Formats: sequence, C-alpha cells, structure tokens
Amino acid sequence: MSTIKRHMEDMEGKEAIALQLAIDEELLESCEYHGTYYDARATDLESVIEKVQDGFQNNSRLNSSFSSFDEFKEVLESIYHDHSGLDKCGLCSERGL
Ligand SMILES: [Zn+2]
Repeated sequence: MSTIKRHMEDMEGKEAIALQLAIDEELLESCEYHGTYYDARATDLESVIEKVQDGFQNNSRLNSSFSSFDEFKEVLESIYHDHSGLDKCGLCSERGL
C-alpha cells in the first residue's frame, strides 16, 4: 500500500470520527431518509470546539486518533464548512417532505 493511500485512509478515519462528534454535539444533523448532513443551527462551531477542547485530553477516542487538539479542530472545521451551507436536508426540501 502506498504512503499516499495510507494517508487518505487515515484522513477518512479522522473525518468519520469528527463527523460523528459533530452529530453527537448537534453541530450537524443527519437526514434520516437520505443520510445527508446539514446544519440545523442547534449550536455553533465555536461552542462545540470549546467544549471538546476542555475534554480532549480525557477523551481516549479523540486523543488516540488525532495527534493534537489543533489537528482535530482543523478536521472538524473542514467538515463543518462542507456541510453547513444548508439548514435542512436539500433532498427533503426539494420533495416537500
Ligand atoms: Zn432528507
């Protein structure tokens, strides 16, 4: 396996963990029908980052997956910006659900 491929899989794992955290913290919502992600505006990115920063050292899942809090923050911010454009599922809106 090439170094690049291994790096990409590593990133996917980190993104999956950050995405799950974003959902757990209600930063993003996942549509139960379409599996799409959107920002229901239940909380904001800064509050979630502050909350996670406080518990980062004691969160074994996070501190074993990310080399530092800053790395986690970068991945979370990138994921949030990818999905925060919509405040509801685009597919549901189109179909009037
Ligand atoms: Zn939907």
